[in-house]
Amino acid sequence: MRAEIIAVGTELLLGQTVNTNATYLSRGLAEMGIDVYFQTVVGDNMGRIRQAVELARTRADVIVFTGGLGPTQDDLTKDALAAYLNKRIVIHEPSMAKIEALFSARGIHMVESNRRQANIIEGCEPLENDAGLAVGNAITVDGTHYVLLPGPPGEMKPMFDGPAKAWLRAVSGEERKLYSRLLKFAGIGESSLEQELIDLIERQSDPTIAPYAKEGEVAIRISTKALTEQAAAVLLDEAEEQIKKRVGKHMFAREDIPLEEAVIRLLRASGLKLASAESITGGLFAELVTNVPGSSGEFHGGVVTYTNAVKHKLLGIPMSQLEGTGAPGAVSESTAVLMAERIRELTDSDFGVSLTGVAGPSETEGKPVGLVYFAIARRGQPTLVHTAQLGGSRSIIRLRAAKSAFYRLWQILAKNE
Ligand code: ATP
Ligand code: MG
Repeated sequence: MRAEIIAVGTELLLGQTVNTNATYLSRGLAEMGIDVYFQTVVGDNMGRIRQAVELARTRADVIVFTGGLGPTQDDLTKDALAAYLNKRIVIHEPSMAKIEALFSARGIHMVESNRRQANIIEGCEPLENDAGLAVGNAITVDGTHYVLLPGPPGEMKPMFDGPAKAWLRAVSGEERKLYSRLLKFAGIGESSLEQELIDLIERQSDPTIAPYAKEGEVAIRISTKALTEQAAAVLLDEAEEQIKKRVGKHMFAREDIPLEEAVIRLLRASGLKLASAESITGGLFAELVTNVPGSSGEFHGGVVTYTNAVKHKLLGIPMSQLEGTGAPGAVSESTAVLMAERIRELTDSDFGVSLTGVAGPSETEGKPVGLVYFAIARRGQPTLVHTAQLGGSRSIIRLRAAKSAFYRLWQILAKNE
């Protein structure tokens, strides 16, 4: 079954409201094994809603509407669809009773337009609204299934997840569900990853293999439709094995967790502790670590030493190292090493991580934007130091710098060098 989502609302076209309902519905339909081929947005206008339905009918078996079920004059979805289908609008008596009861209980005057929320398309299955007044509609005409849901997400979600899904399941006869697995990678770009797997991606239609990039990390989603979770697992395992053979050394998780969480889990497994001294990232490294629930068990703490004076005062880095003619400067390999070693010692941690560099937009110490040094000091072992020349805006450079340090830590801990 192919589905199309039609979100109705001029506020969506004006950019005043983000179309989060479409995202929610797409995800839910995919999980049910119903493929969404199109998402449409149309304003509150009878003629244009009709045009959208005419087009959707030619390319979808299921059309799910959201928005325009309310009481006001611009809520037209039911009227537009009823006119298109040559059906009458009738009153759904139980909904009318509910609306009247609510108004009388609150002691407020009910205006005529409130009654519109009890309107339904003749012959439809009414969909109960547990969170509001407007009743939903579901109807099959000439083989096309139409579902009408309200616009407010708080009403749309329970109506979709409850009565609408039950109705769709019954009419579609689809018993398979979509099962998918997310594999996460670091230290490899999205295009390189795709290149390594291109023949698998092109050949494989079941499971499907789709790469995508997300905030300094890349992921691959493998998905299949199956009757049971066990049946799906067999196919997903097989695809995962093939992927691992090619790019397994970059894979840090087989679930949706960020790289720093994978690092924390490895530290936890070995009983090791971490601390950080940051300049370029201004605390982002520590922020990412502490976003991981329970990271206080592994992360001792961190300092942001932004100016040279503070690098000197807090970490004891000699001023002669940081400034003056011939000094390596704050942005240098040797400063990164000193910062990492000093914070490791001060906090008695197993790892001390430092980050120093130029986030931009202009160069510092005559060093180019995007130049980053990061060091990892280790208890009883030599300190590792790395140089990276990163691209992107100021915030992207900072994020990439922090992720690079996590990737190096992950490699050390996973012994995956
Ligand atoms: P109401 O009874 O509130 O009028 P309705 O079913 O008529 O409900 P709309 O008038 O289309 O729905 O939208 C009401 C509100 O719901 C919008 O102002 C917006 O905040 C939210 N909304 C509508 N459509 C969407 C959407 N596609 N995604 C997210 N929010 C939406
Ligand atoms: Mg409305």
